[in-house]
Amino acid sequence: MAEAATQSMAKLQLDEETGEMVSKAELKKRQQKRAKKAAQEKARQEKAAAGPKEQAAPKSKPEDTPIDPDAMFKQGFLDDVYKERPVKNVVTRFPPEPNGYLHIGHAKAIAINFGFARYHGGVCYLRFDDTNPEKEEEKYFTAILDIVKWLGFEPYKVTYSSDNFDKLYELAEKLINLGKAYVCACTDTEIKLQRGGEKGSIPRSRCAHAEQSVEENLTKFRDMRDGKYKPKEVFLRMKQNQIESPNPQEWDLAAWRVKETPHFRAPNYKIFPSYDFTHGLCDSFEGITHSLCTTEFIMSRVSYEWLNRLLGVYEPMQREYGRLNLSGTVLSKRKILKLVEGKYVRDWDDPRLYTLIAIRRRGVPPGAILEFVNELGVTTSATTIAIHRFEQSIRKYLERTVPRLMMVLDPVPLVIEDAEAMDIDMPFSPKEPKMGTRKVSFTPTVYIDRSDFREEDSKEFFRLAPGKTVGLLNVPYPVKAVSFTKDEATGKVTEIRGVFDKEVKKAKTYIQWVGSEGTRKVEARIHNPLFKSEKPDDAEGGFLNDINPDSEVIYHDAIIEEAFEEVKRRAPWPEAAGESELGKGGPESVRFQAMRVAYFAMDSDSTDDKIVLNRIVSLKEDSGKN
Ligand code: ATP
Ligand code: MG
Repeated sequence: MAEAATQSMAKLQLDEETGEMVSKAELKKRQQKRAKKAAQEKARQEKAAAGPKEQAAPKSKPEDTPIDPDAMFKQGFLDDVYKERPVKNVVTRFPPEPNGYLHIGHAKAIAINFGFARYHGGVCYLRFDDTNPEKEEEKYFTAILDIVKWLGFEPYKVTYSSDNFDKLYELAEKLINLGKAYVCACTDTEIKLQRGGEKGSIPRSRCAHAEQSVEENLTKFRDMRDGKYKPKEVFLRMKQNQIESPNPQEWDLAAWRVKETPHFRAPNYKIFPSYDFTHGLCDSFEGITHSLCTTEFIMSRVSYEWLNRLLGVYEPMQREYGRLNLSGTVLSKRKILKLVEGKYVRDWDDPRLYTLIAIRRRGVPPGAILEFVNELGVTTSATTIAIHRFEQSIRKYLERTVPRLMMVLDPVPLVIEDAEAMDIDMPFSPKEPKMGTRKVSFTPTVYIDRSDFREEDSKEFFRLAPGKTVGLLNVPYPVKAVSFTKDEATGKVTEIRGVFDKEVKKAKTYIQWVGSEGTRKVEARIHNPLFKSEKPDDAEGGFLNDINPDSEVIYHDAIIEEAFEEVKRRAPWPEAAGESELGKGGPESVRFQAMRVAYFAMDSDSTDDKIVLNRIVSLKEDSGKN
């Protein structure tokens, strides 16, 4: 029987791109067309690589062409930044505040900073900007370092702004000695008025404290340091060049503030430096050559440069790129906290969120995120991307890099009366022979998806129905349904019976199936967008009123083929991802395409006895919306 099977299969072949069984000639035609398209794209890329002027990042790419992972450093904004300071030893930094989990936007910052350094043969620091003891928590330090490594980057050094408090303190005294800082005792209201009032209509001015002597400022600043003031009583202000300037970054910014919360890395400190005082100086201490940040800091460039120059320290170069935002979701910590506390989601790493721990848990490979960022390119304008565009990128990446298996979400038994058990060899990937093949056990009773059977046939339905024939992927003969039984109480079909339809050579449609031996029951979680609209924040009554009630659909009794065990054993998929380099792929690195269903990854809720899967993305954009 198996022999006959192979012969008949030789006539029909599976088009792995579309999942259809087609004739040999048709398949050849399709393959030629695809090869031509790929060749055209390759030529286009080569042309682009030869002439830098033509290298504007293309908006969309043919489905399966990997893009040059260094494209974003070779052209446009980041290339210009390098050319402004074309040094040999590039030093960059990624400076997160350890006050929350990173989100998809931060992935762009990580890709830019670590990537820029790597591309130019330099190094990148991971610097925790831990100057605010009120907001920081130990768990975020670990989570952030973890995510950076997961994305495939190894920090040159992990540093902390707080390690520099002593140095920063000395420089604050130096600034006072230069007559460029003063201890101010104004209230918030007074300061607001000095800065132009509510509408900015009052001429900007300085307070009397700005005229204090150096000695007085030094004494007061040391008193601040020694805990003689309460928070908000006084603060150290920079005395900048142009209080009249329209740029708020020149309005005598705060340099040091009194705070009562102790800092666990600097327990003796009762005063803490501001972002504006700290950032540029820490960049300087670390010898940062290119300090890359987001455009909300454009106006800060003046104060950044002013401070370093005045203090006579090494001057890094700050340049600003546009933020990356996702529409159709919320990224702010405060809002995600509400979702977690209100139990709308499982936790901060719920696969429906866009924190990086959530994206990771969902199974999105780190390489796909980097490719997505690279594909968008880097400019000075902020980009807002719809979720489906992000998903399209992931899908394209998974398509090339993960094995395929058969899984049935909502199984119903199909008994094929004239069938015999046999082993069928199927490749793990139609495109990557290197992935090898697996044995799939065909049994006379197979399970198919409930949605692939209809009790009543209709013209536009091409799957199984009484009297109708459907193909089973890679099984030699199509199956014709002859009868079915139903549970009267639930109205659900409990069994379908069929026979091989040896007359039909080529079925109109081929569906996935699993055998009844060696297979395994799993829980499959299908995630849909958490919000109904593209702009959850615009919903009446706020984003919580925009929650999609069907954002998580769970199939408790899905069945997956035996080879899942091998896929699990051989994880991470893809092998080249950052998680593999570190040799510690988590459950989420067990990724595969469930043929005709979706891409899946193993969830962290899985145990030895129970496998839980997350849908990473659907196979096609449309099915994701249904
Ligand atoms: P959020 O308020 O969204 O958490 P943040 O700016 O407070 O963001 P930081 O921890 O200060 O977060 O950010 C660390 C680095 O990441 C900074 O250089 C920042 O400019 C960059 N970054 C933050 N959000 C984005 C984004 N959406 N797109 C690109 N880069 C970002
Ligand atoms: Mg911040």
